[in-house]
Amino acid sequence: GRSYDVTIKRGCVLDDFAHGASEYFESYRAKGAVKARKVPVVADTNTHLIFKAALEQSLASEGLAPDWFVVEPGEGAKSWAVLEQLTDWLLELGITRSDHVIALGGGVVGDLTGFACAVLKRGCEFIQIPTTLLAQVDSSVGGKTAINTRAGKNLIGAFHQPAAVFIDPMVLDTLPDREMRAGYAEVIKYALLGDAVFFDWLSDNGTKVLAREPDALAHAIATSIRAKAAIVAEDERETTGVRALLNLGHTFGHALEAETGFSDRLLHGEAVATGMVLAAQYSARRGDISQEDAKRASTAIGDAGLPANVASLGITCSGSALADHMRHDKKMEGGTLPFLLLKGIGQAYLARDVELADIAEFLGEQL
Ligand code: ADP
Ligand code: ZN
Repeated sequence: GRSYDVTIKRGCVLDDFAHGASEYFESYRAKGAVKARKVPVVADTNTHLIFKAALEQSLASEGLAPDWFVVEPGEGAKSWAVLEQLTDWLLELGITRSDHVIALGGGVVGDLTGFACAVLKRGCEFIQIPTTLLAQVDSSVGGKTAINTRAGKNLIGAFHQPAAVFIDPMVLDTLPDREMRAGYAEVIKYALLGDAVFFDWLSDNGTKVLAREPDALAHAIATSIRAKAAIVAEDERETTGVRALLNLGHTFGHALEAETGFSDRLLHGEAVATGMVLAAQYSARRGDISQEDAKRASTAIGDAGLPANVASLGITCSGSALADHMRHDKKMEGGTLPFLLLKGIGQAYLARDVELADIAEFLGEQL
């Protein structure tokens, strides 16, 4: 619908946020509908604790102060109940459409805040400050917002683009290693789906990215976002099939997540990592890629400390039980499920001829 800037710069949040985002604060300086000079910021208890002082200090330099709405960490915050509390809070503040709400956190905070802003007064502005690698390279860009319901994850949502995204690689210094690796799975995804050169670069530099070495980390984030932005720009609302490329590893991944009850036992990025190995192996089984390329994909994932096979996940169900989870996939069309497979490293394609029964048999061999 519209374009927006994604700033990727060391310190752009922790050192210099108020200055860099200054243009978005005009309404707070100018008027008194929202408590004058207070900027609404949504965070979870972790990001609130870790970044409170830095954000307060930064905003103070522009004569502003954050007004905090803090949720519990975890998927539980993406609920109707929390959405209601958040929208009530924003309405009580007297929010107008030109006010910018800040989402400071991982995908959970970004999805919740984005959806609240999508429906509040039929659309309010928001700014993404993603603080996990996963949110930085994936969920903060592209405009997908959602909450979860009893029936499943992200089933209630809207496309609502942020006004701006501020990505500061420095905020990842405090991110737990496991969350860092989970986000890195989505970085490998961009390489596998469309960029063989990036794949080779990650093979040489992945350790540096995971260790948060500034240059390597900035390159990995920027390359990932550019890939995502190009795909989203071509198919903003997932209508032409181009955006489906971003689902590499996700159909298998969602089935694994569903089987583990979407619990901390298996993070989204970990499920996607295993899902990408499965997609590569299934592609090799069909003869789309060589066994050697499938092996390269699984090595990249294993080397990053991510689960490179289903067996290591300790899942005890059958292949057909896993395939059954896919039958309920949002993307199911008639009797078939479009499947993202590989023609090569850096060459994903959407296969429309995949039978779930064959997937069940293949998964059975992997368990
Ligand atoms: P995702 O972005 O993967 O969807 P979440 O929003 O669920 O992740 O965040 C994952 C966990 O990491 C949460 O417990 C959250 O509070 C925590 N977290 C987010 N950003 C940081 C950070 N920069 N430093 C430390 N912990 C963080
Ligand atoms: Zn994902």
